Amino acid sequence: MDKQKALDKIAREIENCAECKIGKSGMAVAGEGNPDADIVFIGEAPGRQEAATGRPFIGRSGQLLRSLIREVGLNEEDVYITSPVKYLPDRGTPLPSDIRHGREHLMKQFEVIEPKFIVLLGSVAAQGVLEMKIPVKTRHGEVIEKDGKRYFLTLHPAAGLRFPPLKELIKEDFVKLKKLLHG
Ligand code: URA
Repeated sequence: MDKQKALDKIAREIENCAECKIGKSGMAVAGEGNPDADIVFIGEAPGRQEAATGRPFIGRSGQLLRSLIREVGLNEEDVYITSPVKYLPDRGTPLPSDIRHGREHLMKQFEVIEPKFIVLLGSVAAQGVLEMKIPVKTRHGEVIEKDGKRYFLTLHPAAGLRFPPLKELIKEDFVKLKKLLHG
């Protein structure tokens, strides 16, 4: 099966997943981008705009993320963007059980895409992908190698929007990321 078809199949599973929808609302937000991407960006959970459209990172955080992606010399069309949690959580922040469950869908997406580099945007992404609690405020900018994959840790763009000094840290991390990707 080609990669796009395999990702579409996972998206249908997410749309039909009763467990995903517990304590959440709106449209399923499976992810979008190049099914053959070498680099994947992982967020937290859809916000209101994402839940209304089914597209990841299209609100204010998304605009920041997408401009940073372009700044590091990547084309938005060449990367894949998704989150560990696929629906808008009623409380805004996902529960540990949401992250644990969402991981099942996320790992299937990774199996299809086979990315070389995974950018973890914040602690929910780190928890969802690596199953580790990582203090991102102190460890952002680090590369973590695990099971043949490379992970880059930074903060969630929403943190940068809430607190401008953190936006500067994220920008510095993306400069590091650019060097890692392009030498
Ligand atoms: N924040 C996320 O983490 N994911 C989205 O899709 C939108 C905002």
